[in-house]
Amino acid sequence: MDKQGLKQPNREQQAKELTNLKKQKEYEWLNKICAWTLQEVVRNRVSNAWKKYEARKEIYPKAGYPREKTDKGWHDSFLVYQDGYQIKDNCLFFSQGQWRGKNEPKIIIPFELTNPLKGTPKIITISWKKSNWTLNIACDIELPPQIPKSEIKKIIGIDRGVRKLFANNEGWKYYNPKYWKKIREKYMELQRILSKKVKGSNNWRKIKDELRRLCRKAKNRMRDQNHKISRKAINRNDLVVLEKLNSKKMSSKENKKISKWTRDEMIKSCWYQLATFIIYKAKGAGKWTEFVNPYQTSKKCSQCGKINKELGDKEIFECLNCGLVLDRDVNASRNIREKGIRKLKLQRLGTSLAEPV
Ligand SMILES: [Zn+2]
Repeated sequence: MDKQGLKQPNREQQAKELTNLKKQKEYEWLNKICAWTLQEVVRNRVSNAWKKYEARKEIYPKAGYPREKTDKGWHDSFLVYQDGYQIKDNCLFFSQGQWRGKNEPKIIIPFELTNPLKGTPKIITISWKKSNWTLNIACDIELPPQIPKSEIKKIIGIDRGVRKLFANNEGWKYYNPKYWKKIREKYMELQRILSKKVKGSNNWRKIKDELRRLCRKAKNRMRDQNHKISRKAINRNDLVVLEKLNSKKMSSKENKKISKWTRDEMIKSCWYQLATFIIYKAKGAGKWTEFVNPYQTSKKCSQCGKINKELGDKEIFECLNCGLVLDRDVNASRNIREKGIRKLKLQRLGTSLAEPV
């Protein structure tokens, strides 16, 4: 729903609207752009903006309404599709208009590869980053076959939390990094300054750029970290078990006091990113990933199975039944691992499978 309470047009309606716009004189320039590229904007970006807005609103009722991206530097990337381009001698050729005829003017972009190309190039993203044009070439590669279930030996369970971002059954923990706090404070401060500037003014733009740089920096650090964690998890194990992520979990009562929207968003995107990295790295290595229901994974004793109802906010899990004393999240990750083993109906080879590896 938009501000006037009108329902958003669906993809088909938007595609029709695009065709109409092309016929108008004011928007004639649209005809010079590859048809597929335009459709992608409508199909993915516009409708994703709405989807993201709806999701954000669930966590944060005052979430900003999607804006019309008219400022300079907003539209800083576009896609070209497989049929729309050719790569030859480190040059990218793609057609300008709607038709892929021989006589049609072509745009030629010479480029340098930072990594050798593997597989068949599919979709190319062309983006403007730090005063440079960057090409991101997505390729189809053949994946190695998945290892047979009977050969799964090393299994890891990973628990994701707020205080500790990740913990695994081996006792390895990764705390919420301190620099996030710093970044968050800086972010809030810049937001405050920004709100006092005249929108669109030079000063406003300067602060906006600084904000963007800050976000990029935080994202890059998060991405590097997640790459390292996922690489380690996949290289050392045959199966990685994670909890299914519940999008509403973050706004639950227990987190309300300590959570601010920016923090929630960061933690959540960090979790999602880790899961995505683990999934694709597992596929690339022929290994397994499994998602289990997180129900009672933190309250259950990983040794005897008894439920500890009085756990509350405590960092340490203590079992009154068998006397197990363990870090709360490490206990949870052991339960997650156990659930994964049961879900895949893996045969236990002696006791070694149930023990942390
Ligand atoms: Zn116990």
